[in-house]
Amino acid sequence: MRINILTLFPDMCYAYLNESIIGRARKNKAIEIECMNIRDYTLDKHNRVDDSPYSGTTGMVMQAQPIYDCYMALCEKTQTKPHLIYMSPQGKTLTEQRVKELSKMSDIAILCGHYEGVDERVIEELEPEEISCGDYVLTGGELPALMLADAVARLVEGVLPNEEAYTNESHYNYLLEAPQYTRPYEWRGRKVPDILLSGNHKAVADWKEEQSLLRTARRRPDMLKKATLSEKQKELLKELEHSLINTEI
Ligand code: SAM
Repeated sequence: MRINILTLFPDMCYAYLNESIIGRARKNKAIEIECMNIRDYTLDKHNRVDDSPYSGTTGMVMQAQPIYDCYMALCEKTQTKPHLIYMSPQGKTLTEQRVKELSKMSDIAILCGHYEGVDERVIEELEPEEISCGDYVLTGGELPALMLADAVARLVEGVLPNEEAYTNESHYNYLLEAPQYTRPYEWRGRKVPDILLSGNHKAVADWKEEQSLLRTARRRPDMLKKATLSEKQKELLKELEHSLINTEI
């Protein structure tokens, strides 16, 4: 899979993309994530990429031409039409379900707005999918674009060690994950639940399933409505709802 981030601030993005799991995955070629500097495509002799808004309000608006030409250059370079996403607080809020769908695509381009945003005409012309990272406003689309690229990359083969590394995690199946523990066994008087040291794989798996259901029921009951639960999980949930729902987890 190939992800291209169209931005005025590539260094900001590479600071993240060069590190940790994503940095390793890029190095190993499990995924290609690169940035294109929108400024490289301006036709303005002073290299300008923004101007003041016609409405006369404060701030600057990114001009349509450099964005359009940047995306067209990408289409030409890749000889495809990458699925274009514009990170925007006005878009649909990102979910793990959409992340799953996007991870199956071969080519994605992510446009980052900055300042007051981008000239509406380039949105009308290119018709990107608009995705928001939440109901709040940031100064630019770089952080949301990195969030999206990171979430998608995790589901691409070869980025994480195996499928289990993401299928058991929160949101993948509309459930929250069970709590995690590591060494030491006791910390500030708090012990790791003994079941996790039992060596009984079936008992550990049952405990995790129970904790996952319980956490989801307590913290995000809205998610349970979308989860596909087995008969066993439904029974378990009924029991948990009666006996444990009011205990602190
Ligand atoms: N004037 C725009 C509005 O009110 O809808 C907000 C512009 S914002 C200050 C600048 C850029 O940051 C946007 O073009 C977008 O790319 C990015 N951005 C800000 N908040 C975002 C969010 N919640 N989700 C995705 N992108 C966001």
